[in-house]
Amino acid sequence: MTVIGFLPRLALVGLIVIAGDLVGRALGTLVGYSQIGEWFGVLAAVVTLLLIDTLRIRRLMQWLREKQPGEAPRGSGYWGDLAYLIERALRKRDRAIAQERLQLQQFLSAIEASPNGVLMLDAHDHMTWCNRMAADHFALDPQRDLQQRITNLVRYPSFVSYLQAGRFNEPLLLASSRGPGTLSVIVRPYGEGLRLVLTQDVTERERAESMRRDFVANVSHEIRTPLTVLSGFIETMSSLPLSEAERRRVLVLMGHQTERMLGLVSDLLTLAQLEGSPRPGADRWLELAPLLKRVEADANALSGGRHRIRVEADMSIQLAGIEAELLSAISNLLSNAVRYTPEGGDIELSWRRLPEGGGQICVQDSGPGIAKEHWPRLTERFYRVDGSRSRDTGGTGLGLSIVKHVMQRHGGELQVFSEVGKGSRFSLLMPPARVRDNAPADGH
Ligand code: ADP
Repeated sequence: MTVIGFLPRLALVGLIVIAGDLVGRALGTLVGYSQIGEWFGVLAAVVTLLLIDTLRIRRLMQWLREKQPGEAPRGSGYWGDLAYLIERALRKRDRAIAQERLQLQQFLSAIEASPNGVLMLDAHDHMTWCNRMAADHFALDPQRDLQQRITNLVRYPSFVSYLQAGRFNEPLLLASSRGPGTLSVIVRPYGEGLRLVLTQDVTERERAESMRRDFVANVSHEIRTPLTVLSGFIETMSSLPLSEAERRRVLVLMGHQTERMLGLVSDLLTLAQLEGSPRPGADRWLELAPLLKRVEADANALSGGRHRIRVEADMSIQLAGIEAELLSAISNLLSNAVRYTPEGGDIELSWRRLPEGGGQICVQDSGPGIAKEHWPRLTERFYRVDGSRSRDTGGTGLGLSIVKHVMQRHGGELQVFSEVGKGSRFSLLMPPARVRDNAPADGH
């Protein structure tokens, strides 16, 4: 390339020197000074080369200055090669930058898509970048708040002292600035004095944790009460000489407490099973009428003739689900009706087909009724409207949560309607896919 570049220039210089020499000679003859010809030839060659080089260098510089629009000014010789090499190096650099930009963009989009908040701080705790989730968690504007000191933007005193203390082993829990809720914040130092602030909405986790704590406390309380009574009786029996009649009475009371604990443990196991097992398939069909007959018998036994119990069981309907679970749901409702309705009251168990194809099993009583403010909480574990009546009649406070679980697993729901002083109606809604008219005798 050097030779190719050099030879044309040499040829050009030669041509110009000869042409300049000729012109110089002619001029020299005119002015009577012949030597001017040689000087004129060399001068013309130098000036022409200078001119050509200046022009080409100007074009190249202009192209560079104007951010390299189109191709570099090409041409033969050194300047053409130089322009080509510069253009190639620049294009290579541009491609590398574009590639890096794309990677950075993809990287930022990935962080943007994260369900957790990510916020970057420089060495002076100024925010240099944050994703939408972090902006949302701290109520920031990702553009407007850039380069602002984070402690001016997030003013929770606990956050400010956490950041200043520099001990980031444990995450910091903050009350979210968007209404009720809890944020977990952790800081990770990186690079030279830079810090990454990671945030996570842990409202649900905290709620589940507090529910678990409440549940354990409730279970312990429910079990401790009968155990305390039992241990009192045991002490009485072992320290006092009791008559046969007294002994029998104490044993009956001990029996009640034991039954209460057994009932509680059995309900807890039922709940645990419901939560841990797969949803019942929609292809296990069972007859509704015999199911209702069975719960009617249990209700009559529990009532001991103190209530008028009416059951509409002559329908030919099949339901899809798990028999033991549906049985448990209906008998929980009936046993509540019996336990809470005073003597002489009416209780009715009925079935109704709904217009869209589903159906509902209703348990209606003429008991004390339940004020509306309690309705949403009735299915909470251990929630009782009338605590002493519940315990006196062997209630565990878990019955309606079992019913709700069963219905949810069957794609249905539990509905409550009640009027204080008049009575209550609990309905189990079954979805259309789980209700059908009695199949022919071959069971298909
Ligand atoms: P429990 O074992 O205490 O009956 P449940 O979960 O079955 O627990 O019911 C929750 C609470 O709802 C009961 O403690 C009771 O106060 C109220 N309740 C349920 N069914 C009836 C009803 N038929 N009539 C009046 N109150 C009821």
